[in-house]
Amino acid sequence: MKQESVLEVKNLEFSFHTYGGVVKAVRDVSFDLREGEILGIVGESGCGKSVTAQCILKLNPEPPGFFGEHSSICFRGEELVSKTEKEMQAVRGAEIGFIFQDPMTSLNPTMKIGRQIEEVLKGRKGYSKKEVREKVLKILEMVGISDAKKRYKQYPYELSGGMKQRVMIAIALVGNPGIVIADEPTTSLDVTIEASILDLLKELQKTLHTAIIFITHDLGVIAKLCDRVMVMYGGKIVERGTVEEIYYDTKHPYTAGLMNSIARLDLEKSVKLKPIEGTPPDLFAPPEGCPFAARCEYAMNICYRKMPPEFGEKDKHRCMCWLQDEKAPKIRLKTQLSGKKGGEEHV
Ligand code: SF4
Repeated sequence: MKQESVLEVKNLEFSFHTYGGVVKAVRDVSFDLREGEILGIVGESGCGKSVTAQCILKLNPEPPGFFGEHSSICFRGEELVSKTEKEMQAVRGAEIGFIFQDPMTSLNPTMKIGRQIEEVLKGRKGYSKKEVREKVLKILEMVGISDAKKRYKQYPYELSGGMKQRVMIAIALVGNPGIVIADEPTTSLDVTIEASILDLLKELQKTLHTAIIFITHDLGVIAKLCDRVMVMYGGKIVERGTVEEIYYDTKHPYTAGLMNSIARLDLEKSVKLKPIEGTPPDLFAPPEGCPFAARCEYAMNICYRKMPPEFGEKDKHRCMCWLQDEKAPKIRLKTQLSGKKGGEEHV
């Protein structure tokens, strides 16, 4: 049975006016987020994943940024694109939480931890001062911060990097939002702390049933955490499916390129990592055809001329690549994982 959607994004386009022209950062992106699931968005820097996430909370400055006229972001039946800044303030934190990339710069260095978490609940009806404080202490404990009463009164500089990120998670969750957006929340942390933060997010998602959008460039992190994945490239979603579909039945050459560039402990020493040659497309003047054509070893004539449609059934494994056309040559996409689980290599 399909779960209810908590968020529906349709035909999302977001661009920026710059001195050099208009940068089309997000180009006609549609997806939904289901109640209680973890959706991963993966891709290289500049592929549009963070701008997409920030569009949901209207965090991109307008101007110079602007939405395309058909863009729609619907949260529990409410359109967000047309909301004013004041209306969005009631959504941020309370309805949709955001965990920023770098806790070192995202926390206010002049404010005590407890006060920063309380800010989210400010102006909310029905909470006395005492209740707000109790809620903050409880969330600090939930995110694994020991001696919450002491930490409540401390400043960010008194905490380690991992603890600061836990505070950021507490800020995102204290309002009990329906969605939390985590934008590369573990990038600035070392691997052991990263693992504990990922475990924490998964545990909190199970306890609180919050839907999470997790942005990363790391497919390993996606495998550990997510239910479904969207791979973005050149401002578009080029492949989407469950984690298992994307990892063991990779259909898009760009996803295959990402898979083959991950270092894995279980690989034989003789297996060489393969970088994706070339650079992402210029989003001032995006190519007419497939955005990956200039870097794709399978590119055909049509790829340069015409944008591929998204092949595959709605709500199933889908891929934006001409290789999926019935008239295309049958190509075997090989990745480090193809054929290992679920058995078959994609043809
Ligand atoms: Fe490569 Fe063509 Fe598929 Fe684009 S559409 S990924 S260029 S084969």
